[in-house]
This record gives sequence, C-alpha cells and structure tokens, in this order.
Amino acid sequence: MARIALNQITRIFNATTAIADITFEVPDGQFWVMVGPSGCGKSTILRTIAGLEMATLGDLYIGDRRVNDVPARQRDVAMVFQNYALYPHMTVAENLAFGLRMRGADPDTIRPRIEAVAKSLDLTHLLDRKPGQLSGGQQQRVALGRAIARKPQAFLMDEPLSNLDAQLRDDTRAELKQLHQRLGITTIYVTHDQTEAMTLADQIVVLNQGRIQQIGTPQEIYQQPANQMVATFMGNPPMNLLNAVYLENKLHIGEQALPCPARLQSVLGDSRRESAPHRLRERFANRPGQSINLGIRPEQLQISPAGEDSGLVAQVTLVEPLGRETLVRAMVPGEERPISLLAAPEQAVQVGDRLSLQFDEQALFGFDPETGDRLL
Ligand code: ATP
Repeated sequence: MARIALNQITRIFNATTAIADITFEVPDGQFWVMVGPSGCGKSTILRTIAGLEMATLGDLYIGDRRVNDVPARQRDVAMVFQNYALYPHMTVAENLAFGLRMRGADPDTIRPRIEAVAKSLDLTHLLDRKPGQLSGGQQQRVALGRAIARKPQAFLMDEPLSNLDAQLRDDTRAELKQLHQRLGITTIYVTHDQTEAMTLADQIVVLNQGRIQQIGTPQEIYQQPANQMVATFMGNPPMNLLNAVYLENKLHIGEQALPCPARLQSVLGDSRRESAPHRLRERFANRPGQSINLGIRPEQLQISPAGEDSGLVAQVTLVEPLGRETLVRAMVPGEERPISLLAAPEQAVQVGDRLSLQFDEQALFGFDPETGDRLL
C-alpha cells in the first residue's frame, strides 16, 4: 500500500491541454473519487498515474518513489476498467490467478490467495466457469478479484460499474466499499456518477475542463461548494439557479420582486460594510442593479399552504412521483428554465398549480453570473 501524490501534473496532446496543474495527495489507504463532466480529464489523470500516459510537466509519486519514468508494469498498481476484458478461454480461477502467474508466483502461493479472494467476492461456486457463463455483475467481480489477488500498492478504477444495471450497480458499489474497508488499499476511482462519488469517497476531487475545481469530503463538496460548477454538478436533482437583481432592498427574480432576506441584504444592501465578504464588496459596492445567480437546492424549497403566497411564485409544469417523494418542476415567471422541488407524496400537486415557495435564507447560495465564483 502506498500514498499517491501528484504535483502540478500537466498533460498536453499536440496543442490541447487535457489536464493542467493537477496537484493532490491521496494518503495511504484512502479511497478518493474523481468526478466531472465528460472530457474534463479524469481518465487522463488516472492513466498518467498508471503509466499509460506520460505527464508533460509535473512530478508523480507512488509511495516515496518518483515514478514519472517508471514503466507501467513496474508501478505496482492495478487498473480496473469499465470493460473488464477477462480472458474468455480461461476459467474464473485461471483469470483470478493470471496476474500472479505472470509475476512468477508458485502454485502453492496462488491457490490459497485465489480461494480467499473468491470467498470475499462470493465467487467460490463459480471458479470453474468461463466468463461467457457469468452475468455482467459476476464478470465485474472477477475483474475486481483479479486486481485484488495481486495485492497491488494501489487500485486505479475507471468507471468500473458503468456496464452494470441499476440494481447490480448498487450492490457492487456496496461490496466495493466493504472490500475497501477490509483491505484498506489506496484507491483512486473515476466516475461521472455523483452517487458513487458521494457514497464511496473519503475525498472527492471535482474536475472541469482539465482543472481541479475543489477537493473535499462528500459533505464539504455538497454543503460548501467552491463555485457554481461544483454546486450544480453535485446533487440530484441539481441545485436550482435563479438570476436575481438586487435593487432598492428587493430581489427581482423574473417578474417578481421579493423582500430581500436579511442575510442577503446585509451583504448586498451595504456591501461596503466590513462584514461583507471581500469579493461581494468588490462586486456590489456602489453598483446597484448587479445581478447574482441565487442557488437553492430542491430539498430546501417548501410549498406554502394554500392561500399564503408571500414566497417565490412558480407554476407547475411536470409532476414525477418517485414513491418516497414527488419531483415537481415549475416555472418561475420570467425565468428561462424550470426549477425543481420535492414534495411529500401526500401533497396533491398538479400540473398548472400556482405554488408559493418558501426557503430558509441560510440555504441560499450566490454565484457570480460571469465567473461562477461563489459570492455567498
Ligand atoms: P469521459 O468521462 O468522457 O471519459 P474524461 O473526463 O475521462 O472523459 P479524458 O478522456 O481524460 O476525459 O479527456 C480529457 C481531454 O483530453 C478531452 O478533451 C480529450 O478530448 C483530450 N484527449 C484525451 N486523450 C487524448 C489524445 N490521445 N489525443 C488528444 N486529445 C486527447
């Protein structure tokens, strides 16, 4: 087992910078997850750690060894991909043993290790089968087992669950977490599935356009997003964004003017005050009518009882019952995109209803519409 450290890693393909200035250190035994939209550079980082890509700039350490010039085979890390590429003509047992055999381990070492790995992944009864006789989930477990059997210093996993159906994906995800708790092998895991990121990670690295946006625990990333990209990427349904203009102590959202919540007023209304965050002061001081993207998570919007309409007004456009709760989409007049909120199943919400929505001002976020910087 080993720590993995990246120091200002940059990878340039021809003229394209795929990843830039990537710096983080995964301590020995931790499980880190890299997330971000397609093309943000997740796989390039993982492949660079594995030695399948070369860093154009920067230093890479596995344990205390600088490995920039160490070939992939000598880095002692095991990669698990979404297409698990088992050897079809070999049995499960032979597939599990393959990495060890290639490293010249003797059969007396291999056998007990394969048996232990098979037991931990519930593969014992399948050891004599060929991959073609296994379900997708079983094949994926064999691929994991093959990596585990080698006892590598670290696991690098690139969307290893994405070929599985929803139920199997949930089950295998839970198995993976338990396995990591038992084995404690340093793991870097790539996904664009935020549920996987939230449930598996000790720390999440959020990437966009080849750059790190934020590193933090799942709670930090969710509750204290560094910017609009992180805020809207993590969370399902995603955080709502409303463009608001602060003018004369009111927040103008679409066609509505709402009283500005006290917390916002104290920073927007008199942003020269020392208590206002520095970036807000710069942005709002002496410039009335500045707009701000207000962010609010769907679970923070509450529907007011009928007859009370002092809140944000929105008209229901879609109702999606999910069982435990109902996902409601509604248009705020004058806004371009619908907002999402969650209603209790017993709340009778119908398309066309006019809702008045309340929220706790502590739950509001604010972002610069131009840069996406978090202001609130
Ligand atoms: P996905 O989730 O779609 O797999 P990703 O986050 O893993 O995406 P990468 O595959 O790392 O993204 O790609 C990052 C960027 O680098 C992309 O813009 C991609 O087009 C570019 N890129 C990756 N490999 C190469 C290459 N061999 N030659 C040129 N550009 C490349």
